[in-house]
Amino acid sequence: MRTILTLFGTRPEIIKLAPVIWALERRSETWRSVTVSSSQHTDLLRPFIRELDINVDHDLAVMTPGQTPNAVLAKVLTALEPLFLAEKPDLVLVQGDTTTAIAGALAAFYARIPVAHVEAGLRTGNRLSPFPEEMNRRLITQLADLHFAATPNNVDILLAEGVQKECIALTGNPVVDALQRILGRSTASPKLAQLLDSISGKRLIVLTTHRRENFGQVMSSHLKALRRFVERHSDVELVFPVHPNPSVRTAVDAEFSGAGRIHCIEPLEYTDFLHLLSRAWLVASDSGGVQEEAPSLGKPLLVLRDTTERPEVLDCGVGRLVGHSGERLEEMLETALVDESWFDTVRTTKNPFGKGDAGEQIASAIERFFTTKTGDA
Ligand code: UDP
Repeated sequence: MRTILTLFGTRPEIIKLAPVIWALERRSETWRSVTVSSSQHTDLLRPFIRELDINVDHDLAVMTPGQTPNAVLAKVLTALEPLFLAEKPDLVLVQGDTTTAIAGALAAFYARIPVAHVEAGLRTGNRLSPFPEEMNRRLITQLADLHFAATPNNVDILLAEGVQKECIALTGNPVVDALQRILGRSTASPKLAQLLDSISGKRLIVLTTHRRENFGQVMSSHLKALRRFVERHSDVELVFPVHPNPSVRTAVDAEFSGAGRIHCIEPLEYTDFLHLLSRAWLVASDSGGVQEEAPSLGKPLLVLRDTTERPEVLDCGVGRLVGHSGERLEEMLETALVDESWFDTVRTTKNPFGKGDAGEQIASAIERFFTTKTGDA
């Protein structure tokens, strides 16, 4: 029986790998699925593992406070070597662009174990933005044997970089599967429901921002613009689940303290975050995952970045790129108030990130990979 080892360490990784793990487990007569958490995020990750119903077989517990990416990388690499010897995986699955993902791909490559990459082919074209994720993605592409691309554009990028067509599968993004399953089976927690009730009938802006490139002046300028907009319009409320990163907390204390109709709350578990998003009038975010969730939920999105590796969200009309300027953000918010056509487009657009079967598509592509490799099923 073949063993497939899936490695994750942060919130977006577990969200996007959960549907793949579910699909692997549905084939438990053919394959053994081994799950490994690096715990690169600890408090942020744990509730997601529970909500997504994932059993963690090994926890590398690498995180200590104030640790640099170098230290995380070194620890994950070191911890995986004996684990690979013990579990003998036939394939290692990583997702995205984190330190955990690059460490897993490199460790597997050194151990001569094939690597499969979920969400392959994302590029901004700028080696330094997002940093260091753009470089992690490029390096993982070099290390991987199998590339699961979410969109045709991602396939084209991989082909242009010389990846063989046979090694790429167009699967959609498993975040759509996760989102559909969770929203279909849950309701908002009493705490969130109470907050949503207290602002019902108002235009709700949902904000998330925590990217390293935005720390400092850019984030302050975005927050100032949002505050001015909310203060000008009495029918607007803003809810901001604040990421625990100290740079974000400092910006929030400086720019949002004492502001009316701005609700800064602790990061939400995934279920509640999706319920919050689904009630939004408009979303403002620098997150990668939120760029996929907005079209999946039919919500207009202002992307708080100067570039995106998900041009599909702009091309389909759901997202608009804000850049780093607060003035521009303010103008775009004012435009949104009067621009009904944007909301109409968003409601009717087809989701460019798939229809919710990416986990199954990926499991089938893995099956084909083993079949062509050995001639057996
Ligand atoms: N998210 C969440 N709770 C929150 C904020 C975000 O569950 O309070 C989810 C969000 O839906 C998205 C994921 O976390 O799928 C994004 O993670 P993050 O922004 O950390 O990473 P990125 O997507 O930028 O890689």
